[in-house]
Amino acid sequence: MSKYYAEPFKIKMVEPIKILTKEERIKKIKEANYNVFYLNSDDVYIDLLTDSGTGAMSDSQWAGVMRGDESYSGSRSYKHLIENAKDIFGYEFIQPVHQGRAAEKVVMPIFLKEGKVAIANMHFDTTRAHVELSGARAIDCVIPEALDTTEFHPFKGNMDNKRLVELIEQYGPENVGLIIITVTNNSAGGQPVSMENIRETSQIAKKYNIPVCIDAARYAENSYFIKMREKGYEDKSIKEIAREMFSYADLFTMSAKKDAIVNMGGLVGVKNDEEIYEQVKARTISYEGFISYGGMSGRDIEALAIGLEEGIDIDYLRYRIGQMEYMAERLDEAGIAYQYPVGGHAVFIDAKKLLPHIPYYEFPAQALAVEMYIEAGIRCCDIGSFMMGNDPDTNEQIESEFEFTRLAIPRRVYTKSHLDVVVDALIAINERKESIRGYRITWEPPVLRHFTAKLEPIK
Ligand SMILES: *Cc1c(COP(=O)(O)O)cnc(C)c1O
Repeated sequence: MSKYYAEPFKIKMVEPIKILTKEERIKKIKEANYNVFYLNSDDVYIDLLTDSGTGAMSDSQWAGVMRGDESYSGSRSYKHLIENAKDIFGYEFIQPVHQGRAAEKVVMPIFLKEGKVAIANMHFDTTRAHVELSGARAIDCVIPEALDTTEFHPFKGNMDNKRLVELIEQYGPENVGLIIITVTNNSAGGQPVSMENIRETSQIAKKYNIPVCIDAARYAENSYFIKMREKGYEDKSIKEIAREMFSYADLFTMSAKKDAIVNMGGLVGVKNDEEIYEQVKARTISYEGFISYGGMSGRDIEALAIGLEEGIDIDYLRYRIGQMEYMAERLDEAGIAYQYPVGGHAVFIDAKKLLPHIPYYEFPAQALAVEMYIEAGIRCCDIGSFMMGNDPDTNEQIESEFEFTRLAIPRRVYTKSHLDVVVDALIAINERKESIRGYRITWEPPVLRHFTAKLEPIK
């Protein structure tokens, strides 16, 4: 039997959820044009659409909400946040912003403009968007092992440092505005990046005099994987590991909606370059608000200050990553393929393997997401060709490297029984998979179509 680390908390407040009948679910998903983003959350039983901003805050965080200081300048909550963030990241300058993409909007144009490139292990979609909005181009440079969903590699999120050097030489170091390390590597399936790899990337960047930015949304989960899998880190605390990780970068952008367990929030950190910090402050004031609140209310800043500490607690992280490992073990027993080994915040089901009769242009990962809703009221989403969209030049459907159906697990929200419902649904679908059909798009917008496109099943 799979090991499950019991929740290191008890439940004081509950939020009722209900499951519709199968007939109702079939009707609702049809009305939603077979796009899960059109579903009402009240019609969803277990919502695994994202782990972003969907976590449950603790009693301390809620108490902090009441204590939040709403002063425009010099607020107590701001000071609390800066103190805690400096302690964890070891950086001199910390700037709150309202979420991760706000941090990107503030930071990217400082380093990037037309003619420049940013190179990352993999850009998250909003990161790519802000690199491109600044006029630069975004290049992904993950190790090739990440593309094989069945082979074990302890750090599939790693930068391909050999190729990084080739890319720098090819574009010219003066044209590489930024090297971005996303921890964990969300787009590769929440896969971790090793300390050795980060250190090596940092040395290459130093040699060519290129700044390094960590995209830090899941830095605590990444630190936990380093502790579990990398030699020499077994006995280090999560904070010690995080500190070393950030010491290899010059700055970071962070969505606090993930590992800091708040519903809204973000951070920019600058290690010690005062000139850069001045630019961060100026852009924050224009776009987000005065530096002591950066687009957040005092109560949310207080909750974030507390959440940062809770997010690096080892008992919490063991339980958190343990949830993914528990689901993965049950999937192994059932012979259902997923991005292996399982990542930190989600299980990415390999829909190409589960539904091999559905070609990429009929969206197997989307078909599986629809079936999850019909089977058990579970909402999850396509990270595959449906999300990828069309080639802007030829207007042809792009074939994605992966066809993943992502089951993202909100933090401290669902119990082991909920996870069992999810795995049982997958097993039931796997048993009737031959009858599942692909989809065709009946309407789509020109960009980011997966949020609003309409689909219909192919007869
Ligand atoms: C969520 C996320 C972002 C963007 O953050 P938002 O808070 O959603 O704006 C950026 N990078 C990564 C890796 C993320 O997971």
